[in-house]
Amino acid sequence: MNLEPKNNPVIVSVDVEDWYHGPTAAARFGTRGDVAHVLGSVPQPERGLPYLDAALELLAERQMRATFFWVAEYARRFPDALRRCAAAGHEIACHGLTHFPKFDPATKRPNFTPVEFKTRTAEARKILEDLCGRRVTGYRAPNAYIAGWMLDALEELGFAYDSSVSVNSLYNKTDEPQLVGVDSRPYFPARGTLRRGTVARGLVEFPWPFYTVAGLKIQSAGGPYLRFFGSGLVLAGLRQSLRRGPAVFYFHPVDMCREKIPLPFSWKRPMMWWFKGDLVRGRIARVLDAVRGRTAAFDEVLKVGAEKLCGADQETKNGHC
Ligand SMILES: [Zn+2]
Repeated sequence: MNLEPKNNPVIVSVDVEDWYHGPTAAARFGTRGDVAHVLGSVPQPERGLPYLDAALELLAERQMRATFFWVAEYARRFPDALRRCAAAGHEIACHGLTHFPKFDPATKRPNFTPVEFKTRTAEARKILEDLCGRRVTGYRAPNAYIAGWMLDALEELGFAYDSSVSVNSLYNKTDEPQLVGVDSRPYFPARGTLRRGTVARGLVEFPWPFYTVAGLKIQSAGGPYLRFFGSGLVLAGLRQSLRRGPAVFYFHPVDMCREKIPLPFSWKRPMMWWFKGDLVRGRIARVLDAVRGRTAAFDEVLKVGAEKLCGADQETKNGHC
């Protein structure tokens, strides 16, 4: 399939976390990312970790290099697993010190001050760098709950890119009422916001792809959507987004888990409980097969140069890419 027409890359990424990092578990256990009590109260809590090797296999079979966004506290507990990702040649990036959201999409308020966020993110990066022995320059916000002030802090910390912004009509996980002027193409955000800016800066945002149908924009980067909607929606969104620029695909090892998650069902996040295991693994494989030959990790895509990637000249002339 390969999703013609243009030769833009599909950036493959894996968010490495477990079921207890998700918002449903966090709400039930009610802490700011401290998972110690979950680990102490649930026998054999690890569901995602056994499937990390399945993720590595899916990529190795197709000779694909990807970016692995690790929750730092998870990496600290399973350092050999992180090192297996690094040894396979994949990029290691940051998915927070814990998975607790830094921003509350319901109240539109920060859960941490910018100083707390910077301190914790710097600590997370150090943990990951010490474990993999390489620089870590990429960030993805836990739950994709992202705000403009977070991007400013990431730039101040020296991160090269973020990939958290999800433009869609179904939900808004940001502090922007509307992500005006943002499509699925990489861009330089204006300071203090998630919106597209007109000035090149030290941080690039790689927003997630969306599929437009009947005027609606539907997130199609992957993740839990693979459980519910299947690979068709993801491939349709990737096909549209590749016309605009590089497009992002992501999944979690825990998406392939065959066992039941040890939480009661909740209508708040029903996708967590549906269509799991081998079915999802097959869907991930289908997407990877479809994009074979045109994939890359974030650090490879950035090598072309941020200004070229973001089309800064065109942006200045037309107000958008
Ligand atoms: Zn996550």
